[in-house]
Amino acid sequence: MSARSATIHPPLPDYHTHTRLCRHASGTPAQYRAAAARRGLPELAVTDHAPNPVGYDPENRMGLAEFSDYQAMVRPLQDGALPGVLLGIEADYHEGCEAYLPDWLRRQPFDVVLGSVHYIREWGFDNPDRRGDWERVDVPAVWRKYFLLVAQMAATGCFDVVGHLDLPKKFGHRLRDAQLREFAAPALDALARAGMAVEINTSGLRKPVAEMYPSPLLLGMARERGIALSFGSDAHRPAEVGADFDQALTLARAAGYTEHAVYRARQRRLAPLPGPASPA
Ligand code: ZN
Ligand code: FE
Ligand code: FE
Ligand code: ZN
Repeated sequence: MSARSATIHPPLPDYHTHTRLCRHASGTPAQYRAAAARRGLPELAVTDHAPNPVGYDPENRMGLAEFSDYQAMVRPLQDGALPGVLLGIEADYHEGCEAYLPDWLRRQPFDVVLGSVHYIREWGFDNPDRRGDWERVDVPAVWRKYFLLVAQMAATGCFDVVGHLDLPKKFGHRLRDAQLREFAAPALDALARAGMAVEINTSGLRKPVAEMYPSPLLLGMARERGIALSFGSDAHRPAEVGADFDQALTLARAAGYTEHAVYRARQRRLAPLPGPASPA
């Protein structure tokens, strides 16, 4: 018996998962669903990296021509059985995306759209291959620019949930709390105005920073603004589905959350958080 199988999995939807189509993850939606079923999760959103017609970051996403394959992998799983499977996408907000992204997103039958910032200009700041660039930048200036992009993303009104809200901390480049508050507040205000939710993304636990996204400080700021909450493992392998959701639930409760967001056809409702987790 592996250590993993002893992990407690509270019955929460996992709203952030990938597939092999993005070229840096493994597995099919059917395999992610089977993993969700084994852990007793009620629902899974398949949210692979959105294809891109303008050549943005092509090595980390499906091609436009593969988008029909993506839908064809998800559709047969929408059979009414549990765990339910939602058609989602993780779309990048980057400078220039306004030229194609809002229109493309509107035309697809998504249940939920994650909005993520992974790039500052030409720099994929969370890409392990570009990690060395962190030694050559002004770290607070990066965070300031990052949160400006998050605020701009929210203002487009094109996204439902912000992905990994404090992603720049991935390799351990943190801000002092006072500065984090100052830079993040306008972004959180914009998220609240846009009606976007924030996710607790457990993948940070598997990264050098070894902490979920967002930090307790930022999650508390989101809660103060009435921003809704979802949960995502950001699984890039089926075995990661629902990973560390026991810790995520504890973090949510500590921030004062009592409900989580559930999406269908990009409409949100709120459901009560499950009670204290019991061993699976
Ligand atoms: Zn990815
Ligand atoms: Fe991401
Ligand atoms: Fe992701
Ligand atoms: Zn992600």
